[in-house]
Amino acid sequence: MKVLILGVNGFIGYHLTKEILSTTDWEVYGMDIDDNRIKELENSRLHFVEGDIEINKEWIEYHIKKCDVVMPLVAIATPKMYVEDPLSVFHLDFEANLDIIKKCAKYKKRIVFPSTSEVYGISPDAEFDEDKSPLCTGPINKERWIYSASKQLLDRVIWAYGNHENLPFTLFRPFNWVGPKLDSIEIAKEGSSRVVTQFIASLLFKKPIYLVDGGKQMRSFTYISDGIAALIKILKNENNICNKQIINIGNPKNNISIKDLAYLMRDIFSKHEKHKNDKEFSQIIEIDSKEFYGESYQDIYNRKPSIEKAKKLLNWEPTVNLEDALKLSIDAFINEYE
Ligand code: UDP
Repeated sequence: MKVLILGVNGFIGYHLTKEILSTTDWEVYGMDIDDNRIKELENSRLHFVEGDIEINKEWIEYHIKKCDVVMPLVAIATPKMYVEDPLSVFHLDFEANLDIIKKCAKYKKRIVFPSTSEVYGISPDAEFDEDKSPLCTGPINKERWIYSASKQLLDRVIWAYGNHENLPFTLFRPFNWVGPKLDSIEIAKEGSSRVVTQFIASLLFKKPIYLVDGGKQMRSFTYISDGIAALIKILKNENNICNKQIINIGNPKNNISIKDLAYLMRDIFSKHEKHKNDKEFSQIIEIDSKEFYGESYQDIYNRKPSIEKAKKLLNWEPTVNLEDALKLSIDAFINEYE
C-alpha cells in the first residue's frame, strides 16, 4: 500500500510513519514544512519532501493520484492559537484541507481524515458518541471555536462527498493524545502548547504550572501508541469495515481533571531519577482564563469518548493507563531536552 501523509513530521505523522515502517511493507510519501522529528526515520520506503502544502499543489495532486490512501494531517491544533490567530487556523485547517479533500473526491481516493474531539465542543452528553451526540459550540465572539467549526464543516463535506459522490472515507477523532514529541518545548516556553507539554516545560524550567479557571475541566488522555494502533487498523480497513465511519480514538479510563493532572505530573517528575534530588519543584497556581488565553477563550468542561464503535469495528482497546502514559511522556522529554 502507498500512503500519502501530509504533515508527516507532526506528532501523529511521525509516530504513525515510524509504526508503518517497522510493522508493514507499505510505502510512505510525506510532505511537511519541517523535518525535525521525521529525519531520524530514514528508510528507503519513506519518500519525504520538505514543503508547504499551500504551495506544492502539483506535487500533492500527483501523489493523491499515485497513492492508495491519503491522510491530510496538517493543522494548527493548539487552543492558544485558536484565540491568537483564528484566521491562520481557518486558512490552514479549513481552506488548505478543503482543497485536498476535493482532490481526493476528484480521483475517488480513500481519505482517512483527522476530525477532532473538539467538534463535540460543550456537548451535554456524558460520553460523546460519533453518530448521536450533538455538536455544540459557543458564540462567535468566543474565537476558540474556529477550530471546532472548521473541522466540523470539513467532516460534513467529506460525509457529503462520501454519500453523494462515492468518496471512500474514514474520519477519526483523537481525544487528547499524548506522548513523546507532542509539542516542542520551545513553543511551550512561549506558553502556547497543549497542556501536557506545557506542564512538562514548567516542571523542567521550574516555572509555575497554571490551572486555567481552577483546573476543574476534565480530559481523557490517550497514549500515542494506543492511538497509532487504532490508526493502523483503520488504514488496513479489513473488509472495508471503516468505510463511511466516524471513529473516536480515546481512552475514557484516563479521564482526569486538569488540577489532578498537574499534581500527578509534578509527583511523577519529582520521583524521576534525574530530578528526585532537586531542591524545588514548580508551584501550582490558579489563573483566570481571561488572563491566560484572553477574552475570546471558552473552555470545555467534559470531554470523554464513547469508544464502543472503535472496539467493535477495530477489535481495539487502549492499553496504556494514565500514570504510564505520563511517565513515558515525561521520561522522553527529559531525555530529549537535558
Ligand atoms: N490548561 C491549563 N493550563 C495550561 C494549559 C492548558 O489549565 O498551562 C487547560 C486548558 O484550559 C484546557 C485543558 O488544560 O481546559 C486542556 O488544554 P489543551 O491545550 O491540552 O487542549 P484542549 O484539550 O482544550 O483541546
